[in-house]
Parts: sequence; structure tokens; C-alpha cells
Amino acid sequence: MCLRLALTSMVGMNSSLTPSADPAVVRVRGLTKAYGGRAAVDALDLDVFAGEVVGLIGANGAGKTTAVECLQGLRRPDAGTVRVLGLDPLHDADRLRPLVGSQLQSSALPDRLRVSEAIDLFSTRRAKDAKGLVERFGLGPHLRSSFGSMSGGEQQRLFLVLALLNQPRLVILDELTQGLDPAARREVWSSVAQLRDAGTTVLLVTHELDEAEILCDRVVAVRSGKVLDSGTPAELVARHAGIATISFGVDAVDGDDLIRSLGRVTGVDDIALVPDISGTQVTVHGERSSIAHVGAWLVDRGDIPNDLRVEVPDLEAALLTLLDGPGDPVRTPDLTGALR
Ligand code: ATP
Repeated sequence: MCLRLALTSMVGMNSSLTPSADPAVVRVRGLTKAYGGRAAVDALDLDVFAGEVVGLIGANGAGKTTAVECLQGLRRPDAGTVRVLGLDPLHDADRLRPLVGSQLQSSALPDRLRVSEAIDLFSTRRAKDAKGLVERFGLGPHLRSSFGSMSGGEQQRLFLVLALLNQPRLVILDELTQGLDPAARREVWSSVAQLRDAGTTVLLVTHELDEAEILCDRVVAVRSGKVLDSGTPAELVARHAGIATISFGVDAVDGDDLIRSLGRVTGVDDIALVPDISGTQVTVHGERSSIAHVGAWLVDRGDIPNDLRVEVPDLEAALLTLLDGPGDPVRTPDLTGALR
């Protein structure tokens, strides 16, 4: 009973918060946090707008978790301002907690606490359809299991249920699919998509760039506690890994003619020809749009190769390029979400 009271007051009961008129659910300016004199987060600016799913991506130690911990009032910034739903996470912690659902990287519950008890403890009067959530995340058979007896993936699913239980306005998920099997991962992705469709704002910290590409409206790439760039996954790919590779074989041809003709195709940057047994292997590099134009060129030529291959860069390629790039951040917060 004592535990119930303690946790209930921890999650707060006051849901009568006056919503902020500011469209930014999260607004961070100049956030700085150092450990032992070493900056983990370094003058970070970040906006997350209502209804967006935003992904924080970056290498290990980039400062992502520290930043989201500051958003939840779990760490005191050394400098800068942090506002979540217009409130200060440190000073307005009690008002904010019922409105923010979190699944943290380092979450833990008492080993002996059962799943049903955890749900009971974390439910506020905003809680809705706990049973549906439990079923959706496959925890139905575990309702009486103790936390300590569950596998890492099952514990992770429980944290997701707890994060979503009170219909939060902002959900913060730190490495949400870590340790989940492929089916559970898909289930979690579809739940995040449903949250987005229902208008919940989601801030996602992830190393899974396929996850970021599928789920995020916008990603923010961080290195050494600073924002390197932000935009839609497609924008980051186009800016930092825009080169597509198209390859196919053609019958023996006049190489010069082929290079001249392909060289006129829109978006093509370079062409390599390698003779092989059946003719010539052609490799074309170019902007993403060159894929369509080379396709049209092949159709016009009337000889569609059956070994046509296209390699399209992805967010992982973009992030690797970004992380390898020169030191300083290149962009201020992306405000495109304000227009949604
Ligand atoms: P990861 O992807 O590995 O989870 P991250 O981007 O979330 O990393 P943080 O966990 O925020 O990064 O860590 C940023 C830096 O701060 C790292 O160099 C880390 O070692 C350091 N750090 C984090 N927490 C502490 C702490 N409690 N005490 C001292 N240093 C810390």
C-alpha cells in the first residue's frame, strides 16, 4: 500500500494542466550538461511539434539519453532552457508526469512486483484500456508474473505498456525495440504508428535506423551533444547520401556511344563500363532521380536488361556520412513541424 501511494504521487494525479498555446511540445534551447567537466550535451537546440514522431539518432555516447533525461526532469541542466508542453520539467514535475509517458533505457522495477500490480500502480485517472494494451503487447499470460522472472524483451514490453497507460500527450521512448524479437518489434512499430495517427507526440531515441526511417516524421542527428542536422529521413538521405547506383548488362556495344548517350540522362554523374562474357556491364552513379531517368532511357532503348539492379542509399548511409563529416553542426532546429 505504501508503495502504491509513493508511486501514485510519483506519477501525479493532476491532469488539469492548461495546455500551452506553443505548438512545440518540446522546446530546448542551448541545453548543456557535463559530467565531470566533460560535456555530454553541448548547447543543444531541439523542437518537437504536436503530433510529430521525432527520432534522436547518433553514435553511442552522443548525449541522446542525457538530453531526454533532462526533458523528463531526471537531470538538472547546467545551462539552457527546456520546456515540455510549455512547462519546466524540474519545477513543474508533478504537473508534467501524468502527461508524459516514458520508457527509459535504464528502467527497472522491483523484482517481486507482478505485471498486474505494476499496471495498477502506474495507472492514473487518465488510464484507459490497460487490458487492450496488455493483450497488444503479448503480456496477457504474464499478468501474474513477477518483474524479475520475465525475459528482457517481456520487461521491455511491460515498460511500453506503462508508458502508454495514461494516454500521454508526449511519449519518450529510449531504444524501444532493444531486446525484442522480430514479431514484437513489428508490433511495437505498429503501436507507435497508431500513436502518431491518434495525434500523440513521440520522441524516439534509437540506433535502429530502419526503425527511424519507418516511424519518424523527422530525425535529429546528434554528435558530441550537438545537433549535426535534422529533417525527414528522406531529406537527410538526399543531403548526405544522395547517390544511387544502377547497374545492368548490355550486349556488346560501342562504349563511347553508350557513354555519350547515358551521359545526357538527367541526374547521371558517372558511368563505368566493364566488358564481360556476354557484353558489357554498366554501372551508373547519380542523384536519386537518375533512377527514373535511366529507367526511361532503357525503355526508350527498347532493351530492358533482366539483370537490372538499383542500390538506393538509406538513413544509415546518411548518418555514417554525417558522423564522419567535419566538426560543427550544420543546422538550427528544423521548424517544418510548425507547419503541420
Ligand atoms: P548510447 O547511444 O550509448 O545510449 P547516448 O547518446 O544516449 O549513448 P549518453 O548516455 O547521454 O549518450 O552519454 C553521453 C556521454 O555522457 C557519454 O560520454 C557517457 O559516458 C557520459 N555519461 C552519461 N551518463 C553519465 C553519468 N551518469 N556519469 C558520467 N558520465 C556519464
